[in-house]
Amino acid sequence: MPTSREYARMRSRMVDEQLVKRGINDRRVLDTMRAMPRHDFVTEEFKARAYEDRPLPIGEGQTISQPYIVAFMSERLRLKPEHTVLEIGTGSGYQTAILCHLTKYVYSIERHSRLAGLAGQRLGELGYNNIDIHVGDGSQGLPDQARFDRIIVTAAVPKLPTVLCTQLAYHDGRMILPVGDQQLQELKLISRQGERFTTRTLLRCRFVPLIGRYGFSDSLDEDVDLL
Ligand code: SAH
Repeated sequence: MPTSREYARMRSRMVDEQLVKRGINDRRVLDTMRAMPRHDFVTEEFKARAYEDRPLPIGEGQTISQPYIVAFMSERLRLKPEHTVLEIGTGSGYQTAILCHLTKYVYSIERHSRLAGLAGQRLGELGYNNIDIHVGDGSQGLPDQARFDRIIVTAAVPKLPTVLCTQLAYHDGRMILPVGDQQLQELKLISRQGERFTTRTLLRCRFVPLIGRYGFSDSLDEDVDLL
């Protein structure tokens, strides 16, 4: 097993080679990713590979996103310390931890109770307490806690869920999410100014499907323990 110094070296190389070289330049995002122990978010067998340029399995058929995608989404959201964020698809909690580090408060929803439990434990161990993890179908957002300055969806949706747009802050609300079929999606950035929404397509990507009312059907993922 690598030592913590070795992990720090791998992490620094990850930031320089996978992020900076590909154009990520938000200082706060880069500093956070240089400090965040990604190896704490994967199981023993994947720890030594935690800083590779790829997603990795986290159980339940799900994955921790590729570092570049985490950095790219975080940068494009233009996160500010005073923001309240809704994240849909907690997964390992790695992206969640980065959001917790960069903003005031994070609500995160995960469909698999086991993954939600593990993520909550890791975030607690890292000392984050500005986080509220919910277990359930995040495709409907969290109407009781709305509105959110930022919304990030880390699983693919077949089309833009209107219900999430209505939960965005009126002024300078921003949401980032992958929209497409199960094989390939486009990462979209939705910006809200009052009743005006603008959509930009950023890049092609491949995420696991969001399973739920405004996502894909759950026949794809029958082993889930709670739906
Ligand atoms: N950002 C996470 C990515 C996890 S993959 C990470 O880097 O670890 C996407 C996650 O979305 C999976 O954990 C999956 O279980 C979850 N998911 C799928 N459909 C969902 C839904 N309707 N509501 C909440 N979470 C969902």
